[in-house]
Amino acid sequence: MPADMCGSSPMNLIIFSVGRDSIANSQSIPKKKTENAVWISVIGLMATNGCEGGLKMIEELTTNAEQIQDQELGEILSRNAGTEYLRGFLHGQTEKQLFKKHVPIVTYEDLKPYIDRIANGETSDILVAEPVTGFYLSSGTSGGQPKMIPVSAEYHKKGALVRTFGQSPMMRHFGDINQAGKRMELMFARPEIETPSGLKAASVSTRIYNESKFRTNLPKLYTSPIETIFCPDPNQGLYCQLLFGLIQRDEVVMVGSLFASTVLRGIKFLENHWQELCYDIKTGRLSDWITDSGCRNAASLIMKPNPEQADLIESICNYKSWEGIIRKLWTKARYIGCICTGAMRQYTTELEFYCRGLPLVSAFYACSEAFCGLNLEPLCKPCDVSYTLLPNVAYFEFLPVKNERDESFEMKSNDEDTELVDLVNVKAGQCYELVVTTCAGLYRYKVGDVLMVSGFYNNAPQFQFVERKNVLLSVDQEKTSETDLFKAVTEAKALLDPLGFILTEYTSYVDTSSAPGHYVLFWEIKGKEGKHCKELDPKIMVECCSRMEESLHYTYKIYRKRNIIAALEIRVVKQGSFEALMDYFVSKGTSLSQYKKPSCIKSEEALKILDSRVIGKYFSPKPPL
Ligand code: AMP
Repeated sequence: MPADMCGSSPMNLIIFSVGRDSIANSQSIPKKKTENAVWISVIGLMATNGCEGGLKMIEELTTNAEQIQDQELGEILSRNAGTEYLRGFLHGQTEKQLFKKHVPIVTYEDLKPYIDRIANGETSDILVAEPVTGFYLSSGTSGGQPKMIPVSAEYHKKGALVRTFGQSPMMRHFGDINQAGKRMELMFARPEIETPSGLKAASVSTRIYNESKFRTNLPKLYTSPIETIFCPDPNQGLYCQLLFGLIQRDEVVMVGSLFASTVLRGIKFLENHWQELCYDIKTGRLSDWITDSGCRNAASLIMKPNPEQADLIESICNYKSWEGIIRKLWTKARYIGCICTGAMRQYTTELEFYCRGLPLVSAFYACSEAFCGLNLEPLCKPCDVSYTLLPNVAYFEFLPVKNERDESFEMKSNDEDTELVDLVNVKAGQCYELVVTTCAGLYRYKVGDVLMVSGFYNNAPQFQFVERKNVLLSVDQEKTSETDLFKAVTEAKALLDPLGFILTEYTSYVDTSSAPGHYVLFWEIKGKEGKHCKELDPKIMVECCSRMEESLHYTYKIYRKRNIIAALEIRVVKQGSFEALMDYFVSKGTSLSQYKKPSCIKSEEALKILDSRVIGKYFSPKPPL
């Protein structure tokens, strides 16, 4: 997934490369007339009129969504009909109806044998006619390994195009921030992996950070030197990125990261290190524990003693309340850019506290499989964000999913029996699982995200991100989704707020070590204004357990009353436990930029990390009414 789509430099840098390439190569791009013409006009218009060209492109795409989707599928099929995979289902045919009838809906596991064969040296055309040029490592895992999503030149070009015009809604609201100053964006690359065939596999963000255009323009557009992004120790990298962000604070016009959790991690790190950072700024010397030579070299080019700046930062950080700290430290920041929807929505309250009044902007919805959609209203509240899916990115289909509000919806026993709906035929209010067919060898591939149609922009639907599918707690037949859990936690944590405590992190798992099994929630709690969470009355925590149970769904409550599920438990963990969890996953190969805390802990080691930091255990005293 791109590091930061709208208003971030990977995209803004690509705009220039794509701009030039596309004008130069426009003849050679085998694209439909409409899109190609618009592409060229977008580049021209964006060069002269800022966001106008991009907005025009969005109008064109959303108005002609149906036609563009059909063209998209037609092209994918005509190019790839001869691949071993599609031949097996379509025997060389390319009609949409046959595709819908014969090509199965699959998961990564179904395509993995083909992907592995390509990674091991077989020719790409077993899956995709165009050569596979590498792989994106998705944060989703398959058998404990990140998924490898094939990438081709065409796929790249599509991503670049979207990132080009995709910044226009942001530019409309925040102006051209490239001209205004720099981004203090926390970015972390992971080492690339080489497959036996010599192809490179890396996270999308790492791939972008490796592009020469990104590297060339980095010093002008960002506060973080490249060495800090590629630092093998994420803590040293983070320290230096905060340091350089503070040193250049007068130039910073945007603060952010890919996901909200990383921004918060940055703020927490700052809470623990601001005195040391100020000392470094004052003396112009980098702390000794930063041993990475790249970071030290970068620092030697930027740092010089600046006691006035250090004193200013110190006085801001010394203030008892850190409410609005981002705004106070980076006074020219126009917005905080990070994804705040889906699994990240649990962080918005805390982030809003730190950024007081600055807009929190979730600019796009993307995954390694495809760059899916844009938020056309960047100023809307995080809870109202909708993404408009772009019909020229991939061929999208939608698998209807039961929605709490839709009593009449009938689930078929398996996906094969459920008819997939085309992009333009989805219904407002209905939830769907996203299924993509891409130019890089994914055919009717379930991404695993559940989206709800919130409305339409021209003829293109807009979606709210609902949840990752199958993130469930289940002791017996009941199924508790991420959304169910989020709602229950939201109800329960409301008991803490008036007492001066904030729930900063949570996750869950099902403990079946004793019968019946029960839900366990790990909570990290922080006291406001110097309070320590030890001061929290245990009775309140017990009440939180009850409140959670009361807020869970009907089936849970029935099972709980029948003692099929035992009492819900909250384990309070000490400060920093969730950082330790993140460190663990990062040490196992997850990219820090793309890290998403699991809503449900499945690994023994991860469980041990949290369990070893428990400072209090509380149980619901009786089943809910
Ligand atoms: P990755 O493949 O590692 O890039 O992760 C992609 C996944 O991140 C998606 O399938 C979603 O589950 C999640 N994601 C990406 N963008 C958003 C967004 N705007 N809101 C919520 N979740 C998102």
